[in-house]
Amino acid sequence: MNLLKKRENVAFYDKWEQEPQETREKVIRSRLEDYIGLALSTAGSFYQPRIGKINFSDNQPLKNVPIMKSQDLRELLPPKNNILNGKRTTDFTVFQSGGTTGAPKTTLFSNEELDNLTLPNARGFFALGLTENDKVANLFAAGGLYMTFIHINRMLQEYGCMNFPFSNHTPADFVHAVARLFEINCFAGITSVVLDCLRKFPELGLDGIKIEKVFFGGEHIYEADREELQKKLGVKLIAAPGYGTVDTWYIGYQCLHCPPGVFHAHDDQTYIELIDEETGAACPPGKAGTMLATPFPRRITPVVRYLVGDRAQWLENKCQCGRTTPLFKLLGRGDDVLRIGFDSIDYNFIQDAALHINGLSGTIQMEKRRISGKDQFIIRVESEAHVDKHVALAKELSEKILSLRPSLKSFIEKGTVFPIEIEILPLAAIPRNSRTGKLTRVIDSIE
Ligand SMILES: [Zn+2]
Repeated sequence: MNLLKKRENVAFYDKWEQEPQETREKVIRSRLEDYIGLALSTAGSFYQPRIGKINFSDNQPLKNVPIMKSQDLRELLPPKNNILNGKRTTDFTVFQSGGTTGAPKTTLFSNEELDNLTLPNARGFFALGLTENDKVANLFAAGGLYMTFIHINRMLQEYGCMNFPFSNHTPADFVHAVARLFEINCFAGITSVVLDCLRKFPELGLDGIKIEKVFFGGEHIYEADREELQKKLGVKLIAAPGYGTVDTWYIGYQCLHCPPGVFHAHDDQTYIELIDEETGAACPPGKAGTMLATPFPRRITPVVRYLVGDRAQWLENKCQCGRTTPLFKLLGRGDDVLRIGFDSIDYNFIQDAALHINGLSGTIQMEKRRISGKDQFIIRVESEAHVDKHVALAKELSEKILSLRPSLKSFIEKGTVFPIEIEILPLAAIPRNSRTGKLTRVIDSIE
């Protein structure tokens, strides 16, 4: 029996989406309490001193628990350690989070956890109107320990629609031929992969091609890209069925009423906090804060208060769709990571790369721009070196970064991302914030 036939008899995908506030709060508190208990019993040596005593009736029960960052996770998980996974040292799948070489950034999922991803996946696709009559091309990334293709494929198989597991590796002309033969009407995948593929369709011929829905994920979709898909291919719906991270879980999903950047919270799945970066206080609706996630379904490696890296704000208004799951608006990445193509470039990574090159200072700014639908990565580095040396220094840094980032290198070689632009500047040449004197380290030129 497919997922659509197994649904509870409710207006939405499942009952949780229409529970009243009182029930929601009660369930969320009880899940949080259970999850903190699990963290203490699975990885007590790590969590006991961090968590201390929690008052679960407080309106911000985790406020004194230190925030966990991506690099903290790396220290606690295989191959370095078995701290978070406690006694569970086998019987799980290892995925990669981020695309660096050398020691992989691992994230561990048990089979049960992978199965459990079907619920938030299906909830998101259902909210965007996926039906059993739809024919879906799955272009999510597969291989290289990437995770999304695997569980999206699994969900689509069970959903009751027609499923085409292309992955991100299938040449566009083959996807195009199959799309025409089978009248594929939906595309799902990482934004730039879907865009790169569909951009080739007009020259391959639009006869017999009718794409109605694009389900994107993994990165923001820009307004110019939306217009291009609507105008050139007549796409009617462009939305994100799921927002989350591989280090945590699904956090949000869009419905047909969500404007760009607005999501319903999967608040039965992940305990979501939006906090003021300075004070640590919970942000009331309308105030932007940094997002922390405590994912209830991550049982073999409990993750408490993970710094997602995105900023967001709660919205006060209820959604027109009638779902009671609260709304948040995503405001883009935090201050230290840029998405270039579908690689996440951490500011610290650029710092480390520049460290290897004599003559470069640590005063570095990185910027992402979007030109003609492609990402451009600009790095500005201050240097004491004579201006005659600047070209050579820029070349050296570029080569260093590309040697450490084969994924970025391949995007540039394929032409999906512009070559890195490096500007070597005299000291103090990068403009500082006039009020604080701070250097803006990362600029994400999202429209
Ligand atoms: Zn809605």
